[in-house]
Amino acid sequence: MIIGIDDTDSREGMCTTYLGALLMEELQQYGSVREYPLLVRLNPTIPYKTRGNACVGISIGTHCPDKVMEHVISKVAAMSAMECDMTNPGVVFVQDDEAGRVRDVLGTFFQRAVREVLSIEEAKSIIADIGLHSRGFKNGRGLIGALAACGALLNTGWDHTFEYIAYRQRDKWGTPRNVYKESFFAADDATYPATWDTVDISNELVVCVPHSPDPVLYGIRGRDPFVVKTAAEMIVSEPMERSCIYCTNQGTDMHLIPMDSIFGIKEMQSYIVSGLVSCNPFTIAGGHTIFSISDSSGVSIECAAFEPTKGFRSLVRKLVQGDVVKVYGSFMNKTLNIEKIEVISLVPLVVFHNPECPSCGKRMGSAGRGQGYRCKKCGTRSSSLVQVHQKREIGPGIYEVPPCARRHLAKPLIRMQPSNSKIFPSR
Ligand code: ATP
Repeated sequence: MIIGIDDTDSREGMCTTYLGALLMEELQQYGSVREYPLLVRLNPTIPYKTRGNACVGISIGTHCPDKVMEHVISKVAAMSAMECDMTNPGVVFVQDDEAGRVRDVLGTFFQRAVREVLSIEEAKSIIADIGLHSRGFKNGRGLIGALAACGALLNTGWDHTFEYIAYRQRDKWGTPRNVYKESFFAADDATYPATWDTVDISNELVVCVPHSPDPVLYGIRGRDPFVVKTAAEMIVSEPMERSCIYCTNQGTDMHLIPMDSIFGIKEMQSYIVSGLVSCNPFTIAGGHTIFSISDSSGVSIECAAFEPTKGFRSLVRKLVQGDVVKVYGSFMNKTLNIEKIEVISLVPLVVFHNPECPSCGKRMGSAGRGQGYRCKKCGTRSSSLVQVHQKREIGPGIYEVPPCARRHLAKPLIRMQPSNSKIFPSR
């Protein structure tokens, strides 16, 4: 039987992955719970999300499915932050004999939940049409994520990574986390690039320890379960209550839709799209850097490197009108929020200087309006300015935001398959 769970937490506490970790232990009384549970990230633009739009999937071999369902439903009812308006838990179960029949429908639903905006009605009607056991609490929005988690469990073969999540002892929830910062840098040093986003070296930050009042102590992301565990064993911190290694679609770019043209881009979806820089980057109040791209469809969109992307903004500011780029990111509020950018081609940057005097080598001054240029010392004259090609301070290649600004789903450049493009990983 597989179990999908979503929307149990609120900003004040809890975390669906913690509930998943508890169930991984508790469900063992009913059969064999399979490693590794899934932590699936869905469309990152969804406004109803608490933090990272996560849902959880668990798979169990059992002879007493009714008891499993009863246990999971009562646990979700007891532990969810029901008092919060935004918390609308959902649980979906798929039994072994149903799996083959529903695999494709739920696989498609999972892929769409990562990229599109879906409705509660659609989730409910799929559940009813195929006759799955489920339980929605309050408005039942969590059924969307719960159904998507089942779709992810039923369809292996998608790109995946792993995360080791350590959870805090209950009496510590809501208090500052006691962690030894240097141990995260040491763990990163020993395991990067097989692990990533533990620390942000250029910004001198530990990025894998949350600051919210939820039960997570830290999470180590990496390419396999063994390396994330090795890195976690190097962490020095307050004692943890438990840990769980999740298999996840984090760091895979699964949310990005490749587009041939800017035409057709929709709000609340995420894209890979190319275009010509159609206005020079400028920085607005709050430190956000903005520029536009356009293409032969005649459509132009604004792209932004927001303030939290720190040093990435100075890179973006080096672009000029006429450069060709490929941008990766979510389109929200009429702006594409850049996660990665590929600089494809750069226009020559030409600046004009007053001519040099051929006799003394000094730069000439203006000889008066419309009268060309004249050397003050030698009296030599010249009629026009001199064109100089300035060196571009950015080269072709793919650049990314630093770890402190990375979206859960964004694929770090160190995970990119080798290609003709040079990559510039941010660490
Ligand atoms: P955390 O990361 O702390 O677990 P969260 O950010 O995952 O919290 P949720 O509490 O799960 O946030 O809320 C997200 C809600 O949005 C859920 O009800 C989920 O079913 C719903 N949802 C997820 N993806 C989509 C989608 N593509 N379209 C519509 N609704 C979605």
